[in-house]
Amino acid sequence: MDWAFYARLLDELASLEGLRLEGTGEPMCHPRFFDAVALAARREIAVTVSTGLAACGTRELERLASCGVSRLEVQLDGATRETYEALRAPRRFSRVLRNLVQLRRIKERLGAVRPTVVLALTTVRENLAELAALVRLARRLGVARVAVRNVPHDFSESRLPKAYAAARDWTGAQSVSTEDPDRVRRHVSRALEASRECGVELRLPGRGVAGRCRQPWDGLAVSWRGRAMPCGLIAVPERAPLGDAAVDGVFHVWNGLAFGEFRDALASPAPPDVCRGCALYKGRF
Ligand code: SF4
Repeated sequence: MDWAFYARLLDELASLEGLRLEGTGEPMCHPRFFDAVALAARREIAVTVSTGLAACGTRELERLASCGVSRLEVQLDGATRETYEALRAPRRFSRVLRNLVQLRRIKERLGAVRPTVVLALTTVRENLAELAALVRLARRLGVARVAVRNVPHDFSESRLPKAYAAARDWTGAQSVSTEDPDRVRRHVSRALEASRECGVELRLPGRGVAGRCRQPWDGLAVSWRGRAMPCGLIAVPERAPLGDAAVDGVFHVWNGLAFGEFRDALASPAPPDVCRGCALYKGRF
């Protein structure tokens, strides 16, 4: 994201309370990542960063412990090198584990409470059997929280851009929603047992009420180019374009016709096409 646009966004959103830096890429690779966090933190905005933590060296970890990030969600989609490296690039399992340990030591040395570190796993068929092992790994690494979520979306909307057809196929093959329910229950219950044994907080996906999404009322998601979308779960604005905050300004987009129509549809019994395949909409995120 262009720095001038980012700074302008924060100026426009003077009462902003929370900011998530995430995306299909790695936010820490932005050349002004630490400046971006510091600018938000100075305004008392709680900054959450979703990262693979694979691109950091010691210097970056030192800065991470002191730049003002509130919550660091480290994407670790497996408890073994084989599974993690089959699911996530770059293939640097050992480095991520080393970085987690080093970050903990740096925080201890600095007496830093933040960032709160969470191991985040998107559960699929391939890593389902490693949920309990991930909780135990968190304990060994000194991480107190594990958050497990389902694949956010099945990419089933009729107007899905062709570029994402492969993502739809992969999701269809890997989603635990079509997995044997007994197998799912068995591994979830082992993970809960591990969580009790290890004293690690475990957040599991919802099994709850469908249609409870407040994302387009509570916040705005913008791509690196400034294009607006209703939420971060759809990842790319082409799937539900709601305007251009870089060109028109954030409030013009927020109060615009496209956003209003999207919210109306989401609140109705006939939600937008893109929401029908969403795990949050189904209460299973
Ligand atoms: S229900 Fe729609 S707006 Fe809400 S998170 Fe899902 S895709 Fe986004």
